[in-house]
Formats: sequence, C-alpha cells, structure tokens
Amino acid sequence: MGFIQVSRGTRDILPEEVIYWQHVEATARELLQQAAYRELRTPIFEQTNLFERGIGEATDVVGKEMYTFNDRGDRSITLRPEGTAGAVRAYIENKLYAQGGVQRLWYIGSMFRYERPQTGRQRQFHQIGVECLGSIDPRADAEVIAIAAQLLQSLGVPEWTLSLNSLGTSEDRQRYRDALVNYLDQYKDDLDPDSQDRLQRNPLRILDSKDAKTQEIAKAAPNILGYLDTDSQQHFDRVQQLLTDLDIAYKLNPCLVRGLDYYTHTAFEFELDGLGAQATVCGGGRYDGLVTELGGPDTPAVGWAIGMERLILLLQNAELTLNQSLDFYCVARGLEAEAQALILCQNLRKQGFSVEMDLSGSTFSKQFKRADRSGAIACVILGETEACDRTVQLKWLISGEQESLLQKDLINQSQQLREKLMATKSANSSS
Ligand code: ATP
Ligand code: MG
Repeated sequence: MGFIQVSRGTRDILPEEVIYWQHVEATARELLQQAAYRELRTPIFEQTNLFERGIGEATDVVGKEMYTFNDRGDRSITLRPEGTAGAVRAYIENKLYAQGGVQRLWYIGSMFRYERPQTGRQRQFHQIGVECLGSIDPRADAEVIAIAAQLLQSLGVPEWTLSLNSLGTSEDRQRYRDALVNYLDQYKDDLDPDSQDRLQRNPLRILDSKDAKTQEIAKAAPNILGYLDTDSQQHFDRVQQLLTDLDIAYKLNPCLVRGLDYYTHTAFEFELDGLGAQATVCGGGRYDGLVTELGGPDTPAVGWAIGMERLILLLQNAELTLNQSLDFYCVARGLEAEAQALILCQNLRKQGFSVEMDLSGSTFSKQFKRADRSGAIACVILGETEACDRTVQLKWLISGEQESLLQKDLINQSQQLREKLMATKSANSSS
C-alpha cells in the first residue's frame, strides 16, 4: 500500500522543534498577561461572508487564498485566513463592548491560506495576535507596537526594522486614492499585470507590489502623508512621539498600506533580518471602521498579528539553546524491581520531578547507555537487591557519584533532592 504524505503547504512540527514553539507561546502568554490582554479562542472556521466583509473582496486573501467549501448542509464555510475578523465577530456577538471601556484581547492559532508554499510561507500557518478595542487614543497604537517589540526582544531577536505609516481617515484615503489613480494611470501599461488589475479595485496595494518596475513607478507616486487632515496628522505625530519616548526606533514608509477602507491611521510592520524574502514577521494597524462594518457599534481598534513560523525559523537559525531538562531516568531489572520502579516514578512525578522510565527490560548496561543519552541529571537504579531492601541506587550522571537510599527517603527528602538537582544543573550549564 502506498505511503500518504502530509498535505502540500502543511508540515509536522516534531518534538525537537516544539520546544521552540512552547518557548514562544510561554513568553507571549506571560508578556500579554502582564499587559492586561486576555486570551480569546474563536472557531477555526466561520461563515465565508465574515471574511468577505471583514477582510474585503478586493484583497488577495479573499480573492485567491481562502479555503472555502460548502458543508453538508450547503453552507459556505471558510477556514480562517486570519484572526481579526473572528475576534471582532466574537466581540460583537458576545457584546463585549457592553462591559465598557477598552477590551484587550489576544489569540493564538492556526490560519489557512492557499498560497505557493516556500520557506516561511505555508498553507496552514500560525499567528499570535492582539486586538485593542475601544480606544482612539494614540497611546493604544503605541502600546500594541511596544508589546510586539517587547515580545521580539524577550525572545532574543537581535535585529528588526519597524516601518510605520498613516492611512488617515477613510476620507483622507479617498482623496489620496483619487490622486494615486490619476498618477498611476499615466504608467498603466508599464505596471505588472496584477497591479493593472488593482488599479480600479484596490490601487493602494499597488504601492507594495513586489515587481521591480512597478516599485520604480510607485517610488515617485504621491505620498499619502500629504493627504492627512489635521486630526489625522496630529494622531500620527503623537504616535511617533510616543514611540520615540519609548525608545522604539522606526522608519516612515509611505508605501506601507493595507488595502481596505476601514484600516485607518497607523499601519506598521516589523521585518526581521536574516529571513530572506519572507522577512515580515508582524503586521498591524488601526481599523476604526471594522466593527461597524461587521454590524457592531462604532468602536475604534488597533492590533497586530505575528507569523509564528517566521519567528521560529529565525530562533532556530540563531541556534538559541532550549533544553527540555529531565531530572531522572529510571532503570530497573526483574519483575519486582520493575513494579517498584513504576510506583517510585509516579511518586517522584507527584513531587514535581520529571522522570523517564526505561521500559525495555534489557541489560543494565544497555539501560545505562540510554540514561546517558536521555539528558537526565540523575539515574534511579533498581535491581533485585534494591527491590528486596526497598532501596534505590541514585547515580549522578555528570559526576558519576553514586549513593544508596531508602525509596521512602527519596520521596521524603524531595526538598534536598531538588536543591541538589538545581545545583548540578546550574554547575553544568555554566561549565
Ligand atoms: P505577506 O506579505 O508575507 O504575504 P501578509 O501581509 O499576507 O504577509 P498578514 O496578513 O499581515 O500577512 O499576516 C501577519 C503575519 O502573518 C505576516 O507578517 C507573516 O509573518 C504571517 N503570515 C502571513 N501569511 C503567511 C503564510 N502563508 N505562511 C506563514 N506565515 C504567514
Ligand atoms: Mg499574504
């Protein structure tokens, strides 16, 4: 029978790599909790029209990247391509706005986009995102940006570039859009085919085309910052001032756009060095018009999403060492010894130790080899003699030092044991 492979654009995350994922997740979770963000979990699929309205039909995501199908009840269903639309739907549907004030939410999970797979670009990928709903204050923009920067910093990411732009209000954008189309019309025939297509549907997206010739044309295009009204300009100035106060470096990029009308004011991206073509690890901005677009009360909001695959690729390349440390490896031989070992392992785990038990029943010398390879700090040994005496041999694998203990003392003296484990561990990691 043939062997069935993983689907194109998806991949298994094996235990050696999961350590990195857990590290990123734990770091994010702690940091977001410190900033008073609460986790929200929404379904992996939603009704298709949520994304059509919430992301926009003129976007690549809705136009060509969605996993859409009819379910058995003939409803059009889509696997979520991003997290914001679902979060905003949940915010409206569960009337989170009725709690008053600002809602700070975050999420983590799989997203699905039908794209051409390459390094850092998959069909199933993962994002961590935040949404800060209910504040128009520029401090909210600065807060979410600062949290993204802090997360990168806590993870030890050495270098990144923060690009910043403002898209103003939807009126500002409309005026800018007209000016842009006017300008681009002159070069219509020189634009790449995708951009020609976007000229009427979604002209702002032409500014971030990857085509060299189009980029050349875009460089001389009118600058959106010249089209901001006084309030928009003030908002943007304040965001920049706050970032400077926070010591967060940024550079202005007038070509950084989001394609849709309800994206307003601040737009930003974090790019990481050393990721090649897929350098953007985090994208975000203000979306003051989205909550009303999806049928909720007028609610300003700002947020971002980080692509976890790209972040983890970078951490792996940096050879960040993460050890999943094991306290004990337990070897035993003989029926009675094996039974006692099983109980002892459970009791050690109840005391908070991590313990791996050898299940092979093979010779002690083979079991010892596995103990050495396991990375455990100490080996718990039970043979026939130990089973008779209710004792164990405890062998410290780094020093080779060995002691005999009563099994019950091993459990009762867990505090001393913990201290010795810690001391051995830190001596070993500093040597
Ligand atoms: P790109 O320009 O790379 O396609 P995007 O603008 O479509 O990115 P967003 O929708 O802003 O991306 O999503 C935020 C982040 O999610 C991206 O910066 C990226 O890190 C990650 N991301 C998006 N699409 C993918 C994908 N197909 N595979 C892996 N990560 C992705
Ligand atoms: Mg994309």
